[in-house]
Amino acid sequence: MKITDVKAYNLRYPLLEPFANSRGWTKTRTASVVEISTDTGITGWGEGISTPSASAIQTYLLGQSPFETERISEAMRGNMGALSGVDIALWDIIGKALEMPIYQLLGGAFRSKIPAYASGLFKKDKPDITQALMDEAKGYVDAGFPAVKMKIGFGATYDVKNVAAVRRAIGDGTLLAVDANCGYDVGTAIDVGQKILDNDIFWYEEPITTDDVGGYREIRHALKVRIAGGEMLQGRWAFRDLLQQRGLDIVQPDVSIAGGFTECRKITAMASANYVRVLPHMWGSSIRLAATLHWQATLPDAPDALHPIPSLLEFDMTENRLRTALAQEPINAVDGSVDVPQAPGLGIDIDRDVLEQYA
Ligand code: CA
Repeated sequence: MKITDVKAYNLRYPLLEPFANSRGWTKTRTASVVEISTDTGITGWGEGISTPSASAIQTYLLGQSPFETERISEAMRGNMGALSGVDIALWDIIGKALEMPIYQLLGGAFRSKIPAYASGLFKKDKPDITQALMDEAKGYVDAGFPAVKMKIGFGATYDVKNVAAVRRAIGDGTLLAVDANCGYDVGTAIDVGQKILDNDIFWYEEPITTDDVGGYREIRHALKVRIAGGEMLQGRWAFRDLLQQRGLDIVQPDVSIAGGFTECRKITAMASANYVRVLPHMWGSSIRLAATLHWQATLPDAPDALHPIPSLLEFDMTENRLRTALAQEPINAVDGSVDVPQAPGLGIDIDRDVLEQYA
């Protein structure tokens, strides 16, 4: 089998209602999608954070076998953002050719459905943001989610008030994680952390910039809470110091950023060897969501105990038709868990009308 064509689509979806994390306001959602065709008629889809250049397509992809994921990954490692999408599309092709879902190609699933955490609770332009956050959080508990994640990083006053309000709204039985999106320096991250931790925080995500490995170690030693991060890191080398120097309790590679399945398997092995838990990051279209489900299905529970820390899927609750309409069959959370797709490859069919609409 040979690759005969690679098409790139840069999708843009304008949000009905903008929202903010600690770094700024989001008004549009984007997705960098590739479609790889082969001489057998099988086509694969992938999502990265950029798309391969015409010369990369010519040099590394056209005429190559889609089965040679290691070789192509090595050749394209200079552009992990584009490689991520290409690699996902190659595994989609392989799965369709062998009539197996990707999780099976990756070595088999530990679970056929993944408990999810509702990822939302952004800052919005509301007259009473605290009440809005409480209503939103309560809705997630009512929908059956076992865990929720909220945005912090807006200063101690906002964070302390709203974390406590969200904890009141969800009660004691729901896990609560907080995400500062690298919005603090070390001192502020520790100060805010100390002030919010009596709300039973399950993890504290990206308190500071990911480059500052020493800072992550200081925060981890100062606060009695799991520290999470790494969603923007690309390639296994970028993860090395944070893992080996024990800057994190939970590492969150993103299959569409870090380098696709081929690279994420290596990152997973490195995390495992350093006793750091992998909980994938997911913030993208239906393609990234499906890819994350396949990969996360293959991650063992850790520790191997009667009560392991659950493998929680990041389920983006914000409005985005690139996630809810790009696949013909939408991937939904039911009672707080999401089924792993069972059809060959990624297990989704792309709706070309939606693709064209936002291209
Ligand atoms: Ca995050």
